[in-house]
Amino acid sequence: MTYLLDALHARIGEFVDLRRDIHRHPELAFDEHRTAALVAERLAAWGYRVERGLGGTGVVGTLVRGAGSRRLGIRADMDALPIPEATGLAWASQRPGLMHACGHDGHTAMLLAAARHLAEQGRFDGTLNLIFQPAEEGGGGALRMMGDGLFERFPCDAVFAMHNMPGVPQGHLVLREGAAMASSDYATIRLTGRGGHGAMPQHAADPVVAAASLVMALQTVVSRNVDPLQAAVVTVGALHAGQANNVIPAQATLELSVRALDRDVRALLEQRVKALAESQAASFGVRAEVDWRPGYAVLVNSARETAFARDVAVGLLGAERVTLQGPPLTGSEDFAFMLERVPGSYVLIGNGDGPGGCMVHNPGYDFNDDNIAVGSAYWVRLAERFLSADDLTRGACP
Ligand SMILES: [Zn+2]
Ligand SMILES: [Zn+2]
Repeated sequence: MTYLLDALHARIGEFVDLRRDIHRHPELAFDEHRTAALVAERLAAWGYRVERGLGGTGVVGTLVRGAGSRRLGIRADMDALPIPEATGLAWASQRPGLMHACGHDGHTAMLLAAARHLAEQGRFDGTLNLIFQPAEEGGGGALRMMGDGLFERFPCDAVFAMHNMPGVPQGHLVLREGAAMASSDYATIRLTGRGGHGAMPQHAADPVVAAASLVMALQTVVSRNVDPLQAAVVTVGALHAGQANNVIPAQATLELSVRALDRDVRALLEQRVKALAESQAASFGVRAEVDWRPGYAVLVNSARETAFARDVAVGLLGAERVTLQGPPLTGSEDFAFMLERVPGSYVLIGNGDGPGGCMVHNPGYDFNDDNIAVGSAYWVRLAERFLSADDLTRGACP
């Protein structure tokens, strides 16, 4: 399979330049107008039918070849983060306060490199849908595109996506069947008591003491309520109350991030957090209001499509550069919503270590351009095999 890697590597300069151009011009969720225009213009130039405006700034490029009935979706994300860049690189962000700190510039460039190769040399039979989505970073761009009829207008038999991962050797692929990334829910808990003089607490109902107790009680949800063999996170990331040492405030507010790798555990976390908030508050004579906001779902990779993706990865890179069943992550990803509708698999590609190899969402992070050839070769091979007219080359996918 090295001829494919060599072929993509030979023309990689164009896509390194494109990646760095996107990097210089980061755009936040649902504001990816320049990036979307660039993607749409390239796809159209290579012969794709292009639809814009799904989920705001989302773009879908479709290429139909032959009479095959199979339909494949491949998704890349386009948004950046509100982080001031500190890499000092020549292609660093030109927009103060914004940067591509999660490598979505690289994900977009990898899929575009594959798009060009597939348009010019791709041997496949069926429908290829390339999905460029806005707002992966908390905005739920995948859900918005689906709300605009993504899978009704562009039906897919399977969908695949890729994310880079610092700390994993560059170009190494990590797959996982089953739950691979956590659900991510948010809760705001407001405790309302009765304010008063700090010297006379007997006349007040102190929400600060209730909040302190609640923070500790919440630690027992994971340690005492969740099955020890399951994963869960309850983090109180913000706690606000009061302004002066001699004033008991009337209110305290807690902000929580709650994560799970299983739907039943996710439901249990919601139930226990709400029950503890109410019962703890009552025991201190204050009132609790819980504003529970569901975020991204658990990302579950289907068995058949993951087996197929593993086969593609091993065929491309050799078994020594592929982890067949990596550990799950407590981070979250809105590709989970697409996988709730259509089977598929999400793969991680190692971003390596060394300069620029620090973790995503860090101001010193940069996408590793050596991954453009590997990542695009994976997409080309996956598309050609999934949409193959020859059943024998389809591997584990019927
Ligand atoms: Zn991110
Ligand atoms: Zn990301």
